Amino acid sequence: MTQFKTLDDLGDVTGKVALVRVDLNVPMRDGDVTDDTRIRAFQPTVETLCEKGAKVLLLAHFGRPKGQKSSTQSLSMVVGEVEEVLGQEIMFVPEIAGDIVAQSIGIMRDGEVAILENSRFYPGEEANDAEFAKAIAANGDFYVNDAFSAAHRAHATTEGLAHLLPAYAGRAMEAELKALASALDNPEHPVAAVVGGAKVSSKLDVLTHLVSKVDHLIIGGGMANTFLAARGIDVGKSLCEHELTDTANDIMERADASGCTVHLPYDVVVAKKFEANAPSRTVNVHEVEVDDMILDLGASAAEALGDVLKTCRTLVWNGPLGAFETPPFDEATVALAKTAAALSKDGSLTSVAGGGDTVAALAHAGVTEDFSYISTAGGAFLEWMEGKDLPGVAALSDA
Ligand code: ADP
Ligand code: MG
Repeated sequence: MTQFKTLDDLGDVTGKVALVRVDLNVPMRDGDVTDDTRIRAFQPTVETLCEKGAKVLLLAHFGRPKGQKSSTQSLSMVVGEVEEVLGQEIMFVPEIAGDIVAQSIGIMRDGEVAILENSRFYPGEEANDAEFAKAIAANGDFYVNDAFSAAHRAHATTEGLAHLLPAYAGRAMEAELKALASALDNPEHPVAAVVGGAKVSSKLDVLTHLVSKVDHLIIGGGMANTFLAARGIDVGKSLCEHELTDTANDIMERADASGCTVHLPYDVVVAKKFEANAPSRTVNVHEVEVDDMILDLGASAAEALGDVLKTCRTLVWNGPLGAFETPPFDEATVALAKTAAALSKDGSLTSVAGGGDTVAALAHAGVTEDFSYISTAGGAFLEWMEGKDLPGVAALSDA
């Protein structure tokens, strides 16, 4: 596992200024934050720093203002919600660097928190401009990164600052990196990966990386149709990327070569129409009719996959097994998620999952609490599943 310093490595920081990169890209409607998950995620880091007597300056981006100030994307909008979660008054500073920031620090007491303006208002952020990073660093004594979700970007506040100041992983970053390491970098074998979702094309790098890492690759969702087609099965009107059947065969050959067993469904749920509660049948994959759409795995396939998980010590999961938003095509995803949750609760399985729709599907299955770790990081989680080095994480371990 990559080495990095944590808040436990901090000495006396009384009166010192912490520049803390967090995720404040929160969902908003009519000026109100509709989900405070991301704010609660960095709460332990801020509390620890405040207890240690630091002055805490929060750095974050919001939306895509593309290097220009925009009144509708100012981080001033989230101050009230952050105050509510942290239970303390918070100052808003309408700049990210320069005298206004320095003056604000001058009137802050130890253990107080301020939010600096949206980092993406400044072109230097996404360009990872050295002068811009230096101007931000000039007001701080050390840097903490607690935004794993932004770590796949090499931007000034996610990467550049780590080279200019002593750099530490915050609590949420630390937890995320430990969970991910236990799932793929240094896992207990056997390891199973569930990869589902709509398309093979969006997960090619994930699949290619995983076959060299895991013992069992379970393929579900729309992308399973492409693998079935590659095996010569007629998938009817199902979502299928016929142009990628060679790629699918190549992935299956690589899996063979590295001793990874690929599990494809043998029974599936089909319907003539893709709509809620449309008449559906469970059929063997060889019985799919020309006007059928495969929308979920069948119950026996889901049960057999549950038996595979029972032999495993580690599970990584990205992508639902079926079109789970549309009942009844959520059943295989829910069934396998419940099996994985029960095994995790018993302590026989370490289960790590991530991905936008995956998080929603697992919440729908009611297993969020029982999985070992569910990452809400989206793009960063997928790049990690692809085996890529994340610049924000690499910079912390270099520091
Ligand atoms: P994530 O966001 O977790 O990475 P994806 O975006 O790759 O997941 O995939 C999720 C989408 O895949 C869901 O919207 C789901 O409805 C769709 N999907 C899964 N199985 C099928 C299927 N058999 N046919 C069509 N769409 C499917
Ligand atoms: Mg998605």
